[in-house]
Amino acid sequence: MPGEGNPRTKIMIIGEGPGEEEDKQGRPFCGRAGKFLDELLKLADLEREKIFITNVVKCRPPKNRAPKKEEVAACRPWLEEQIKILKSKLIITLGSLALNWFLPDLKISEVHGQIRKLKIKKLKFKIFPVYHPVAAFRQGSLRKILKRDFRKLEKNY
Ligand code: URA
Repeated sequence: MPGEGNPRTKIMIIGEGPGEEEDKQGRPFCGRAGKFLDELLKLADLEREKIFITNVVKCRPPKNRAPKKEEVAACRPWLEEQIKILKSKLIITLGSLALNWFLPDLKISEVHGQIRKLKIKKLKFKIFPVYHPVAAFRQGSLRKILKRDFRKLEKNY
């Protein structure tokens, strides 16, 4: 499941990996998490038509387990190529896996909602890490934090 969105956008969202529904439909964030993501996007005055949404791993890990290190490594070239082709300038990472794909030492609890400049392989862009929307289903207090971070995002693109 490669992801989908506007091919001319400079804004990319990166999740973890396709869930069951995403795997069936071949579209990112089309299940319950997607509904919440749409709500969050609205707070930043964004919509799916304006952005590109993809994941760190391109195949659904069995039984929705967390992707393994080898799986993340195997999918790395695909995501690098997507960032390169789209010339992404702002990358919103959802959850710690996507954050740590760029910056392995950072903790989502410490850096969510903070924009930072990055350069990898001659590509310059900003990343904006936020919690994964699914995390808010397990821990209700994250809902408010996610909403606050997305409202902040509007001033940063
Ligand atoms: N969770 C993700 O990380 N990605 C999806 O595409 C759907 C749910």
